[in-house]
Amino acid sequence: MKLFEQQELYIYNSISKTKEKFTSINDSSIGMYVCGPTVYSNVHLGNCRTFLSFDLVFRYLKHLDYKVRYVRNITDAGHLENDADSGEDRIAKKARIEMVEPMEIVQRYTVDFHQTMAKFNALPPSIEPTATGHIIEQIEIIEKIISEGFAYVVNGSVYFDVHKFNETHSYGKLSGRNLEDMVANTRDLATQTDKKNPQDFALWKKAEPVHIMRWSSPWSDGFPGWHLECTAMSTKYLGNHFDIHGGGMDLKFPHHECEIAQSEAALKTNPVNYWMHANMLTLNGKKMAKSTGNNILPHEIFSGDNTILSKAFSPSVAKFFMYQANYRSILDFSNEALLASEKGFNRLMEAYKILSEIAPSEKNEFDSSVWRQSCYNAMNDDFNSPILIAQLFEAVKVINLAKEGKTQLDKENIDVIKKTMHDFIFDVLALEESNANNASDDNKLSDAINILIELRNQARHNKDFSTSDLIRDQLKEVGINLKDGKDGTSFSLN
Ligand SMILES: [Zn+2]
Repeated sequence: MKLFEQQELYIYNSISKTKEKFTSINDSSIGMYVCGPTVYSNVHLGNCRTFLSFDLVFRYLKHLDYKVRYVRNITDAGHLENDADSGEDRIAKKARIEMVEPMEIVQRYTVDFHQTMAKFNALPPSIEPTATGHIIEQIEIIEKIISEGFAYVVNGSVYFDVHKFNETHSYGKLSGRNLEDMVANTRDLATQTDKKNPQDFALWKKAEPVHIMRWSSPWSDGFPGWHLECTAMSTKYLGNHFDIHGGGMDLKFPHHECEIAQSEAALKTNPVNYWMHANMLTLNGKKMAKSTGNNILPHEIFSGDNTILSKAFSPSVAKFFMYQANYRSILDFSNEALLASEKGFNRLMEAYKILSEIAPSEKNEFDSSVWRQSCYNAMNDDFNSPILIAQLFEAVKVINLAKEGKTQLDKENIDVIKKTMHDFIFDVLALEESNANNASDDNKLSDAINILIELRNQARHNKDFSTSDLIRDQLKEVGINLKDGKDGTSFSLN
């Protein structure tokens, strides 16, 4: 019996705004699509939170024995600076400023993205298609949308006709908007536009002569619209109707709304059963954004090289901090929160280690199978990682009590706790033991340095300055600095 047959998973579906019992389209296999990054800059921590939220989903589904095809794209063309189909292509702009080829920008930041996600111990997706590798598929979908009467061509560009679509379909159902309100709230900006209505969106844009990222199409030499890319890549690898589509909360409108419209217009299907949206990470209570400078990069956390931080934090600590909030809640980043997470993370890892050292008792005072199911219940409730972590700490309490001889665990229950903790800590949350800062190891290191300080003091007392200098210089070479003060000698680590 597969694990998913024993567990009842509920997913909060953004389109119905309720938690729904999850039923896969094809028994044991699941198709999941997540909008990947636009690779024009280093991935910031807010983006990482989104991708780590879906890594948790991917890993838990796999843990439940589902076969998951996880498709996450790379947007390497067509993502303009603003949602109104205007402004420069983000990648082309960066390439122009740096005087390099756009594909050099794409390469650099794709590598950065992969390296960062690997540091966080996130699994790579099953397929990672690029937008520029799927121009033919995108042109085919545009042709279908045109033939269905939901798009029009103006001066070599193709636009989706939102008003026409809304006559027979419902545009705005994911984001809970309706077209009349959108029209009422749109100020008619007297900018140049080929669109019939401001709500229409580009499926294909004719490239200006200076624009070097261009492909030929029946309408012009140009480039695809960003929303279309995801429709082409998701349906190519997952079919016209698949299980889960995820992305950051900010993609709900217009990006995902447009994806639904495109699929319904071209393929006559509702593309997705469960829409999932991960909430943002804020810094100082404000959205992280590169443009405002209110932003922190993952490598700054790992090195401690940012004025916000008092020290460096390991990737697992940063991830543990993120998973202590539900993926649908806004989470505010701060040094204090990371320090607290680090303590919690170390306590969890320490308890897992202690578990192997506990001698089994004859009697047992902890029902580990009830506890184990409560861990599953947490994850079955829309991947509720903070509740899962709280459950893991219930086991931490019991382990510490057992170590002190204040409660009893028999072998069978120790084994269940060990297996469950291993599954959830290392396979589902995917935290890494090597990232733990073992407090007792730290103490041992301090004790060892203090022994060397004492030896140096004795050497100085005996006027053996060559030995005392040797101790000081060699410690310095390995990054430990001694400082002599009136209260004795202290040390600091580089
Ligand atoms: Zn997308």
